[in-house]
Order: sequence, then C-alpha cells, then structure tokens
Amino acid sequence: MERLKQKIKEEGTVLSNTVLKVDAFLNHQIDPVLMQEIGNTFAELFKGTGVTKIVTLESSGIAPAMMTGLQLGVPVVFARKRKSLTLVDQLLSANVYSYTKNETNEISVSNEYLIKKDKVLIIDDFLANGQAVLGIMNIVEQAGASLAGVGIVIEKGFQDGGEVLRTNGVRVESLAIIDSLQNRNVTFR
Ligand code: 5GP
Repeated sequence: MERLKQKIKEEGTVLSNTVLKVDAFLNHQIDPVLMQEIGNTFAELFKGTGVTKIVTLESSGIAPAMMTGLQLGVPVVFARKRKSLTLVDQLLSANVYSYTKNETNEISVSNEYLIKKDKVLIIDDFLANGQAVLGIMNIVEQAGASLAGVGIVIEKGFQDGGEVLRTNGVRVESLAIIDSLQNRNVTFR
C-alpha cells in the first residue's frame, strides 16, 4: 500500500536495526483516514473468504481491525492482555512473548465471542517473530474455529514470523514489508 509506505518514510522513526516506531499514526496517535484505507484494503483482499469475525490483540491492532470489520460487516474481538472483572465467561488463553516489551502476557478471549462456526481473520499492527499471531491462532484452535488468514499492517521481513506462518500454509497479507532497518533507513521489499 503506497500511502502506508509513504507515511512510514515520512513519519516513522527507526529506533534500532530491528525496531520501527510508528507512534505518529498507528501505535499512539492514530490517523483515521489511513486506518480506513487499510481496512478497505484488507476487506478487498479477504472478501469472499467467508470471514465471520476479526480477531486482534489490544491495543494497537484494534484500529486497523475495526476499520476492516466495518468494511466486511463483521464483529471485531480483541484479545485482552489483562484479565478484566467483566471477563467472567470461560476463557480461551495463550501465552504471548512481546518482542518490544520483553515480557510474556497471557492473552484471553471469552468463549462467548469466538465459537466453532466462526471463520477468523486475524489482524495485527506488526509481524516480527510471529508470537502474537501464533498466540491468537492457538486461541482460534481452542475455540474449534477456522482461519481465513492473517492481515498485517507492517511486516518486518527480516524477522522470521512471516516465513513460519506461510510455510505452515497460513495466508498472510502484509500491506508493507520491510526488508531492512539498517543505518536508520527503511528499505521496503
Ligand atoms: P511478534 O509477536 O510477531 O514477534 O511481534 C509483533 C508484535 O510486537 C506486534 O503486535 C507489535 O505490537 C510488536 N512489535 C514488533 N516489532 C515491532 C516494531 O518494530 N515496532 C513496533 N511499534 N511494534 C513492534
């Protein structure tokens, strides 16, 4: 997606050879117009695949997931990182190691909102080593639901998450794939 790549170039900051900061439009401040275009693009890519639900991880996946759900006309569920007092139903949980925070979170979804007949599209902001997506896939499997695919806003192609998922037969659609962040410079595939 050209507008996304342009936005990364103009407003992204390379923090190290492996980490890109996009707080200006995705991870802190959110650009709604860009999110809408992102949602429309994911919806176009996955239309006709029978998606009944979008599942993401709080908090940065929610904006692109919402816009995709709006366009596809399906509900959006975000896995929670902290257990809430209102999360009283049977929980589907998985452990996810966070790349940027260097900590493991137990993520949970109520079995009320993810059921066997669901066909799930997973949306997330970044794909690095694939831990977040694999954790959500684990929860989808526990629910007995099926997977339509994975939509990623920014994939870091030099880390192995994309390869792990694709070699396991998962359809992964990334709107921008970064090949390198060396020398504070973003190189797209
Ligand atoms: P993974 O689970 O694929 O290893 O990492 C993906 C998760 O870590 C994403 O949900 C995202 O929140 C975070 N993440 C990984 N790499 C980056 C990065 O370079 N920049 C930002 N902002 N978040 C990242």
